[in-house]
Amino acid sequence: AIKENEPERMPPPPAVKVRRKSVAPQELTKGSKRQSCVVKPPDMQTKRGKFGEASRPNQKFYEMIQDFRETLEITPLSTTDHIEPHRICVCVRKRPLNKQEMNKKEIDVVSIPGKGALLVHEPKQKVDLTKYLDNQNFHFDFSFDETATNELVYKFTAKPLVQSIFEGGMATCFAYGQTGSGKTHTMGGDFTGRQQNSSKGIYALAAQDVFAYLNHKRYANLDLSAYVSFFEIYNGKVYDLLNKKAKLRVLEDDRQQVQVVGLEEIYVTTAEDVIKMIQLGSSCRTSGQTSANANSSRSHAILQIVLRRNDRATTLHGKFSLIDLAGNERGTDVSSNDRNTLVETSEINRSLLALKECIRSLGMNSDHIPFRMSTLTKVLRDSFIGERSRTCMIAMVSPGLTSCEYTMNTLRYADRVKELKGHAKANG
Ligand code: ADP
Ligand code: MG
Repeated sequence: AIKENEPERMPPPPAVKVRRKSVAPQELTKGSKRQSCVVKPPDMQTKRGKFGEASRPNQKFYEMIQDFRETLEITPLSTTDHIEPHRICVCVRKRPLNKQEMNKKEIDVVSIPGKGALLVHEPKQKVDLTKYLDNQNFHFDFSFDETATNELVYKFTAKPLVQSIFEGGMATCFAYGQTGSGKTHTMGGDFTGRQQNSSKGIYALAAQDVFAYLNHKRYANLDLSAYVSFFEIYNGKVYDLLNKKAKLRVLEDDRQQVQVVGLEEIYVTTAEDVIKMIQLGSSCRTSGQTSANANSSRSHAILQIVLRRNDRATTLHGKFSLIDLAGNERGTDVSSNDRNTLVETSEINRSLLALKECIRSLGMNSDHIPFRMSTLTKVLRDSFIGERSRTCMIAMVSPGLTSCEYTMNTLRYADRVKELKGHAKANG
């Protein structure tokens, strides 16, 4: 009955060659034939339990992945790397293993060799119980490893989009991924314990650049002002995060213009003003209770920085929408299948599916944008049309083996969004 909750079935990604150091490859992929003979430092030495098992669950796979990594040629991303502006940019960011995962001796199954490449080392077992790694390659515009800072991620993702809103375009930046993969950390700012550093997220970094442009003489003659709105979509309903979560209606007029009726738009003159709004809004976001993560967010949060002309009608000039999407984990979590959670999950799946379709339409310059499929795509409708619209998606992945299935789902989704780029019309 709940078909929407099934993970999307998609063909496996095409095998992309990742540069490897010259080591006999058969020897490494068939890990079963190759016992590690490296002398390990004392803390890596495996303690044997009562039944002879290694102290780290999946020790064998851990060693196989380590062996594989030794053969990888790593080209780390540097701040001086060239950024080619794309109409649709799809990137991936891997967060580090957290303390809990380290304590559980969780193994890291994701490698980022650089240059947009990402590898998932999926542990598998043959019928005869031989262990092997299913190494799957993905390729994106950029791939960020666990050492990347928000500033670095920003530089390659949202930053190149800022200019387009001054040129009268619409820009969107999405953080997509499983709950706990780092969406809010990336968009809203990194956490020190419970405290979030709002000035170090993509929201704030984008705001800083918007004001840098706004105060630049090059754009002075446009006579623009900036405004901020911040709202949340939960179960298809819109709530204003800058107005005590007032529930708002979404209306579409006969010219297909979509309006969120009564949405607060706060006039802002500095990045600090925006940061205050981010803090105010973030403090009242909806968070549902899922067994995966008690603080998990099951809502989409949308921060918009709007440029309006200082004319009598305050005409819209450009808009930057920065979106912290709800967790994409599918309804496979049978332990928490109460009705409300199921409704939430199917609603989230539907909106993420619609989002993919709408970005695809943008990529193909299509006249038909299936924006009516969800509230999320309805309110973002004007971002999917026009020559000057730009989109960036950052797919976040958790590194651990226990997240492997979700990680694969995230990567397949991102791959599908990116796949369409080849069809996009080149646009100056
Ligand atoms: P999500 O919003 O996707 O559910 P969060 O952004 O809340 O995930 O991240 C979950 C936890 O992981 C947080 O404690 C966060 O600080 C930490 N985290 C996420 N990404 C990183 C990163 N790149 N570096 C360090 N810690 C991170
Ligand atoms: Mg979050």
